[in-house]
Amino acid sequence: MLPNERRQQLLKWLKDEGPLSISDISTRLRVSEMTVYRDIKPLLEENKIVKSSGGLSLRNQPQETLKGCSYCLKESFSRNPVQIIAHDSQVEQLCCPHCGLLRFKAIEDEVSQIICRDFLNDMTISAKLAHYLLDTDLNLNCCEPQVLTFSSRKQAEQFKKGFGGTVLGFEEAIEEIELRMAGKRSCDCHSSEELID
Ligand SMILES: [Zn+2]
Ligand SMILES: [Zn+2]
Repeated sequence: MLPNERRQQLLKWLKDEGPLSISDISTRLRVSEMTVYRDIKPLLEENKIVKSSGGLSLRNQPQETLKGCSYCLKESFSRNPVQIIAHDSQVEQLCCPHCGLLRFKAIEDEVSQIICRDFLNDMTISAKLAHYLLDTDLNLNCCEPQVLTFSSRKQAEQFKKGFGGTVLGFEEAIEEIELRMAGKRSCDCHSSEELID
């Protein structure tokens, strides 16, 4: 194979299979790693591929990172963003638990996992097991009604003592937010839709 053919082959693999390590590539192409490096140099220079700890990947590979909240389309994320992973492994980012729960409700059948962060220690937790605090005095300036997530009920209750609010479970929190969204225009998401009464 000529270098150019090897490059075409490599691009095809990266497109079809995702990232590959240099040693994988050298085995597959039956050339030395040195040759692989020489082959990929122009691709790196043209920014067609990128090199990371996971190996080489295509530059325009869809990345999980932040294109904005897939519910309210806001580009900024709160301190406690939510991720929804669908059965087909697509990952959606939501700006905050408010959007996370509403989005979950909208696509419930497709959801494989919903993950949020503990507000206090930043650990990731399954949203279904989290405790939700609504109506606290602490305003994070994301979507209203605002929701904070905690892994421990005890900590949620302690936080509530300091900042007020109501602690709810997963299903309860969804119900409550839906109820309020239906009743009031208190949410700054979907402002265009809210104009319709
Ligand atoms: Zn949002
Ligand atoms: Zn939000």
